[in-house]
Amino acid sequence: MAVDPASAERAAWLRAEIDRHNHAYYVFDQPVVSDAHYDRLMRELQDLELAHPELVTAASPTQRVGAAPLAAFGSVTHSVPMLSLGNAFDDDEVRAFDKRVADTLRAAGRLQPGEAVEYFCELKLDGLAMSIRYESGQLVQAATRGDGQTGEDVTANIRTIRSIPLALRGDGIPPVLEVRGEVFMNLAEFDRLNDAQRARDEKVFVNPRNAAAGSLRQLDPRVTAQRPLRFFAYGWGEVGENPALRHGDMLDWLASLGLPVNTGQHVIAQGAEGLLAYYRDVAARRDRLPYDIDGVVYKVNDLAAQRTLGFVARAPRFAIAHKFPAQEATTKLLDIEVQVGRTGAITPVARLAPVFVGGVTVTNATLHNEDEINRKDVRIGDTVIVRRAGDVIPEVVAPVLGQRPTDARRFVMVSACPVCGSAIERLEDETIARCTGGLFCPAQRKQSLVHAAGRKALDIEGLGDKLVEQLVDRGRIRSLADVFGLSVDELAEYDRMGRKSAENLVTAIDQARKPTLGRLIFALGIRHVGETTARDLALHFGSIESLMAADLDALLAVSDVGPVVAGSILRFFAEPHNIEIVRALQAGGVEPQAEEAPRTLGLAGKTFVLTGTLPVWSREQASAEIVSAGGKVSGSVSRKTNFVVAGEDAGSKLAKAQELGVTVLDEDGLRALLAQASA
Ligand code: NAD
Repeated sequence: MAVDPASAERAAWLRAEIDRHNHAYYVFDQPVVSDAHYDRLMRELQDLELAHPELVTAASPTQRVGAAPLAAFGSVTHSVPMLSLGNAFDDDEVRAFDKRVADTLRAAGRLQPGEAVEYFCELKLDGLAMSIRYESGQLVQAATRGDGQTGEDVTANIRTIRSIPLALRGDGIPPVLEVRGEVFMNLAEFDRLNDAQRARDEKVFVNPRNAAAGSLRQLDPRVTAQRPLRFFAYGWGEVGENPALRHGDMLDWLASLGLPVNTGQHVIAQGAEGLLAYYRDVAARRDRLPYDIDGVVYKVNDLAAQRTLGFVARAPRFAIAHKFPAQEATTKLLDIEVQVGRTGAITPVARLAPVFVGGVTVTNATLHNEDEINRKDVRIGDTVIVRRAGDVIPEVVAPVLGQRPTDARRFVMVSACPVCGSAIERLEDETIARCTGGLFCPAQRKQSLVHAAGRKALDIEGLGDKLVEQLVDRGRIRSLADVFGLSVDELAEYDRMGRKSAENLVTAIDQARKPTLGRLIFALGIRHVGETTARDLALHFGSIESLMAADLDALLAVSDVGPVVAGSILRFFAEPHNIEIVRALQAGGVEPQAEEAPRTLGLAGKTFVLTGTLPVWSREQASAEIVSAGGKVSGSVSRKTNFVVAGEDAGSKLAKAQELGVTVLDEDGLRALLAQASA
């Protein structure tokens, strides 16, 4: 029967589409669709070809492996072809595989009726396949899989991977051994690599597989050497005579020669149910593994049985990959909204067309921050790759540029908090934008109340996070000021609150009406204003009114207050919501007490900068002496510096001191000053 034109046309389209994806994935390490999408196309083509065998051509991607190697590398012809693996996506497909194997082996007289097939089960690491050739025990060549027949010569790059021995060890080293395995990257090392890439403004990799492939297929091996690549052997090519009868024993032999083998992760299983038990066990542990796996691999353990089963065009019949649900998928980015975290951090969140990934349907994913959106060049309307691994929050990895619609829009950061309307600030040098309505913003309420009640702030014993949670959730307190209206009767009603604890709490709240001014300032939770700065501000301004009225110059006059802290204070009090809360606190009877100045020591209030090498004291000793006399040691010279202590080879700090007219001392001068101060 002739093939209907629609099927022929569809098959041709699928072939072209799969070839295009193979090229992007294998040659450029830049996939444009998710693996799940690719697998669906491949499945459809396989099914079509199964239904219409006359559609099969030798050039069909179902009959071939990978893609042709990149010409920039030298090419290597594999002495034994490097194949792919057939795959199973569900239990029934695994049972069908086992049945095929068992039937063939029984027909060949290699399996008794009722006997189960023995399999060797391994993890399927998600990296790239590598063939490494040893002659007389020396590493002589390494090649990628390429199209299965011919791969790329990456010998120099492979030699930079420390876990791969340059020479085999042990007895019985064969004249030729081609070991095959996977080059991959651990997740933690992948994250560190990406952090470093980001810091240098260089390309960030979408996933560890991509990073491993990109790092290995470098024309400059010095680049590869910088990358945290690893290798596990799981097979072999040319090897002369096999020294073992089973797959598992072959791996033990490879390990004995000094090759890295993923021992401890294998099991030997009997029949389909044994395979499925292994799959479930690995699935339960998958998120705790230090590397990405995309499935498990089952191989008939007996090598003679493997030979009986043989190969189809692109894969062995004696093995199969049982894939896990994909951790990456592509979907449409419908919109980008922002969320306000407990500390006021504004996080852009992607609203996605629902997509099944990592075993669940995902509709939201994090985009981290504005810089990340720009770096990834993600736009609203794009088709994006979404990743969800384990319990980790799903994230948008990258846009699929080839599918960008012409009306895709760039994200613009909001200027007002979507929860409370307060201004959003983003400091220079910071990646995170924040809501400035710390005391007022409902999103930050709980966090700011727990902070304000803390021991170093208003010190309200008994007002911990559990109670704050309940009070806020029931709508009883909306801001810090409401705390001062709480009564024993109502508090006694709350979970785990007896009358006695309610009374104690109300007493603690009462005492908190007279905090020192420094504690009150600290309790406000102004960004960058820690406990010490709060005390310095209190000493300097003497009242909350004058702090609120201070302008930039007035703030900068406070010791240790620089432009960042000053800016943060100005923005805090520029927000009317925050002022309202200060007023409400005052109305609730909160009356700060004058801050007591710390005991004055001889050098109190004096700032020193040390530079150069002193004749006797080390820098640490000199600093300790200054600090114990009440002085401060700073790293840079400014108008606020009182003394620069200069030793031999003093550099720019000394010049700066002279330029600003700051007093310069040598070690003797410093000792004299200290003696004077202690007198
Ligand atoms: P595969 O990755 O499904 O299986 C074969 C490979 O598994 C081997 O070459 C080897 O590298 C690896 N492997 C890992 N552990 C192994 C073990 N213990 N024993 C044996 N092999 C092990 O097949 P493939 O042909 O390399 O690639 C096809 C897959 O690649 C697709 O299913 C898809 O996930 C992905 N792909 C994606 C795109 C895309 O555009 N997104 C394009 C091409 C391929």
